[in-house]
Amino acid sequence: MPIDETKSCPLCGRSTGIPLECGVCTSQKRYFSAGHFGFFFSDRLRDALLAFKFRQRKDVGRFLMGLLREKVERLSERFDLIVPLPVTESRLRERGFNQTYVLSEEIARMTHKPIDCQSLVKTRETKDQYTLGREARMRNLIGVFAVRDPEVIEDCRILLVDDLFTTGATVSEASKVLVRAKAARVEVFALARTP
Ligand SMILES: [Zn+2]
Repeated sequence: MPIDETKSCPLCGRSTGIPLECGVCTSQKRYFSAGHFGFFFSDRLRDALLAFKFRQRKDVGRFLMGLLREKVERLSERFDLIVPLPVTESRLRERGFNQTYVLSEEIARMTHKPIDCQSLVKTRETKDQYTLGREARMRNLIGVFAVRDPEVIEDCRILLVDDLFTTGATVSEASKVLVRAKAARVEVFALARTP
């Protein structure tokens, strides 16, 4: 079941029963101004997401995005540019593709908006966020994203695309550098979020 945005936090998608910011989002700075989420991560979705991310099953990612077509089409008025959350060059070589780019391609197909996969870069590898405590998570992310071409970003309303949203710290850090590069605003889209 896709997530019902009328019953969840508009920033992080946490189920709140009402469309108001949750306690976590009101207690910390989020550099993105809205979050849009496809599915709650569940056991049923787990195999599909792992196949998509680690076994290069692009078809699985595309299929899941197809289920979200209506939701994605409704978003099209909200942004000008699609930016996939980047991976490092070495991760790209090792994995053969960036899963967030595959999702972005589907969004581009549905909304006829351009993708920019050059301007935002990931400068070094990070430890998996879920293995770390809150302090270490923050340290892990310092300076990890950079904007290579601020002119492309300036004044754009950006849809930043990720596959799985957990705490939101990573997309918030990426949003921070985009906002500092004078993006008009950043909204986040994630295929799934943890429940
Ligand atoms: Zn929230």
